[in-house]
Amino acid sequence: MKATIAVLPGDGIGPEVMAHTTNLLSIIAEKNGHGFEFVEGLIGGIAIDETGNPLPDETIAICETADAVLLGAVGGPKWSEPTSTVRPEQGLLKIRQHFGLFANLRPVKTYPALASHAPLRPDLLEGVDILFVRELVSGIYFGDRQEQGDGTESYDTMYYNRDQVEQVANVALRAAQGRRGKMTSVDKANVLASMRLWRRTVVEIHEDYSDVELEHLLVDACTMHLLTRPGDFDVVLAGNMFGDILSDEASVLAGSLGMLPSASLRADQFGLYEPVHGSAPDIAGQGKANPIGMFLSAAMMLRYSLQLEDEAKSIEDAIDAVLADGLRTADIRGANGEFATTDEFAQAVIAKL
Ligand code: NAD
Repeated sequence: MKATIAVLPGDGIGPEVMAHTTNLLSIIAEKNGHGFEFVEGLIGGIAIDETGNPLPDETIAICETADAVLLGAVGGPKWSEPTSTVRPEQGLLKIRQHFGLFANLRPVKTYPALASHAPLRPDLLEGVDILFVRELVSGIYFGDRQEQGDGTESYDTMYYNRDQVEQVANVALRAAQGRRGKMTSVDKANVLASMRLWRRTVVEIHEDYSDVELEHLLVDACTMHLLTRPGDFDVVLAGNMFGDILSDEASVLAGSLGMLPSASLRADQFGLYEPVHGSAPDIAGQGKANPIGMFLSAAMMLRYSLQLEDEAKSIEDAIDAVLADGLRTADIRGANGEFATTDEFAQAVIAKL
């Protein structure tokens, strides 16, 4: 098949992990007779430096003509002074909203080979395989906000309407049908009006999915359950802010933030795929970035936007095999302190393909 892929490397370790990912995808395309065209665009801090805009119109145009978007990471201290009014992260919020990417999928699974590295007891981590579905274009990150008066007051607004909850609940419930048939909806219905609407809507939509077991958890309780019984979760549905926080909390179950992919989808096949981690300025340029999160994001792109399931699986299997062989990047290195550089790890994955 032929596909055009918009490539937005961004800042910090973004370009480091992206270069290996387009290389990996080119090799997969060559092996399987596909034609992937990569078109590169600016986003984040580098886009501010070159155009003054964290998401230039030209980048939007590149993404509009693409079948899918691959994004590295944005941000860094250079653009994050308290007084900065134009910030790299605005580019992220804008691209999600522009394309109406309302469902953010973040799978978190544990690797037996890394059990000793994770901070929880190995018996708690056995078989952990959770899919977070986070609402991405509404909630408190997009609601009305204001710094008031002399700067000593401000507010943010958590807003949801029925349609917004319905569309993301449908994505999560369908995903649960294709997995282990369980969905946990997270809210704060005991305090927040918007979250009572959330729960009411989820209960209604669930009526069409009798084969899915539905559980409701308050977000504060959920933070504890994720650590005391992570293996019980299948699909976790949450609003924008709660989903952001919970999926970062759960990331430690996998061993490192650097290993987690994400997909941001709308109702058609178009999607934006990016690792969960940020630009990691503390390790940028040192060959210490773990490329797994970016590689697995590319695998999700092959699966959800390009319907290339076998090719997606080949990336996941190659990563499993490299980890089983004992190769580790710096963030998941063992007690002896030895680690493979980003280049060495990426080459090992390619060799397994
Ligand atoms: P971060 O995810 O960049 O880094 C957190 C920690 O995890 C750091 O110690 C980092 O070295 C480590 N880490 C992250 N990714 C790694 C990888 N692939 N391999 C090895 N180690 C990895 O989060 P932060 O430090 O809070 O933020 C840094 C910048 O990134 C900020 O400007 C922030 O706004 C931005 N950010 C961007 C995104 C995004 O682009 N989607 C997400 C989160 C943060």
